[in-house]
Amino acid sequence: MAEDTIFGKIARGEIPADIVYEDDDVVAFRDLHPQAPTHVLVIPRKPIPTLNHAVVEDAALIGRLFLAAAKVAEQLGFAEDGYRTVINCNADGGQTVFHLHVHLLGGRPLQWPPG
Ligand code: AMP
Repeated sequence: MAEDTIFGKIARGEIPADIVYEDDDVVAFRDLHPQAPTHVLVIPRKPIPTLNHAVVEDAALIGRLFLAAAKVAEQLGFAEDGYRTVINCNADGGQTVFHLHVHLLGGRPLQWPPG
């Protein structure tokens, strides 16, 4: 059983978040410390700690995270201009919350490569 995190609590509605999309499997909410004009986190309700913990049975769920990100980008009006989706993994990736999440960043031109 994965350890509970703040994102697990958000997924279960136990603590508030600025939710922009949700369905049976996925929740998307605004990041508290946005790194772009729009910064949304897309999480599975299932608590998978990191991408390293994903198994083949999670493949469709992980696909749904990205489809939800694209839907949110469309809904918030920057799908055509473009955006970035990122999954950070463990220390070198900069992961701080150990519940798998996709960052959706948009609203301005983003630098590449990132720092
Ligand atoms: P990462 O560093 O990839 O694990 O990303 C974690 C992200 O979660 C950071 O961008 C934080 O700003 C964000 N964050 C942490 N707690 C919350 C919260 N309660 N609501 C929304 N975003 C949060």
